[in-house]
Amino acid sequence: MTRIIWKMIKDKLLSPHLAIDLKYFDLGIRHRDETDDQVTIDAANAVKELGVGVKCATITPNAARVKEYHLKQAWKSPNGTIRSILDGTVFRKPIIVKNIPPAVRSWKKPISIGRHAYGDIYKSVEYKVPGAGKAELVFTPADGRGKVSLLVHEFKGPGVIMGIHNTEKSIRSFAGACLNYALGEKCDLWFGAKDTISKTYHAFFKEIFDHEAAARKTDFEKQGTRYRYMLIDDAVAQIMKAEGGMLWACMNYDGDVMSDMVASGFGSLGLMTSVLVSPGGQYVYEAAHGTVMRHYYEHLKGNPTSTNSVASIFAWTGAISRRGEMDGTPEVVQFARRLEQVVVATIEGGTMTKDLAAIAEPKPGTFANTEVFLDAVAKRLSS
Ligand code: NAP
Ligand code: MG
Repeated sequence: MTRIIWKMIKDKLLSPHLAIDLKYFDLGIRHRDETDDQVTIDAANAVKELGVGVKCATITPNAARVKEYHLKQAWKSPNGTIRSILDGTVFRKPIIVKNIPPAVRSWKKPISIGRHAYGDIYKSVEYKVPGAGKAELVFTPADGRGKVSLLVHEFKGPGVIMGIHNTEKSIRSFAGACLNYALGEKCDLWFGAKDTISKTYHAFFKEIFDHEAAARKTDFEKQGTRYRYMLIDDAVAQIMKAEGGMLWACMNYDGDVMSDMVASGFGSLGLMTSVLVSPGGQYVYEAAHGTVMRHYYEHLKGNPTSTNSVASIFAWTGAISRRGEMDGTPEVVQFARRLEQVVVATIEGGTMTKDLAAIAEPKPGTFANTEVFLDAVAKRLSS
């Protein structure tokens, strides 16, 4: 469904106002299959070279999609591939609209989530244990000396094991990116992990965060903001009572899960934007939601859909304004900001998709279909 929205955004909101020299990479599932996923690698490398990209939601094929699209294999998550090429941190921030009150009463300001985008279960090795046997964790140093092997489990019967990793370099750049973002946004930085249980893996993250944060302590003090470490379950409890306005740094899996929780809490997945910031200073903007598959099957049946395009529009405005800043073209930045204002004004004026109409206060008399909403934005933008 997002692929259909994508085209409408370009045709209705961008092309009439901007001449963009786009390098286009078709990450549609069919084209990834045809190119043996080389197109995803090419796209990531293009972002590396050009500095900024905007990405439409993509299908991560499961068994059902492999069958539906007759795929050669269940290709990996394109986001996973892009993130392991660019490294970095994904920041997600909800779009605040006056007439969409958050589900959590205490939330008054946006809660941004900084998701570590490298490693852990997203770059794991898994094995389904067929029967009794010994699972070990083995590390062989490059010089071959001092090999370490640890017992994971002595299996008496079938089971399952997983090996995950992270690198000091990636964790340090994750901490650095979060500190920069929090200082840039003048907000508190929270980091949560489970170092009481994971005394080495999670504790390593905490150690690096604490160390990097200590180095920037005076910068935080000058702004009257602070860095806080909490156990992840405490952080979850605290966030439900907080006012918002902080950056919550999360390990990869926590960020995956918590950003959907925060997005729903602020109203809709359709109001959450996402940007991957690499240590090399490259940016990839996207909506935080997926391809909205259920709506697409309705669309295929010829039924009208009411899919929220706001996060996808903000992915474009994020990328366009970044490009404008990089190129020193303030009119381009201004256009992006104006488009964002127009989108918010359209919703505040009472025109919105079904997901928002259900939770808006006051409730609009009716909701807009996918295309009707975009047309309303286009009309305001041109006036
Ligand atoms: P999804 O596309 O995010 O949609 C889940 C549900 O959330 C939808 O069915 C819809 O609820 C609601 N929703 C999400 N975005 C919406 C929007 N813009 N407007 C209105 N409602 C919205 O997640 P999914 O269905 O689990 O995944 C579908 C595909 O997307 C999968 O192939 C997955 O791999 C992929 N995916 C891609 C990315 C990415 O590229 N960044 C991220 C996540 C998932 P209702 O059905 O109740 O209306
Ligand atoms: Mg997710």
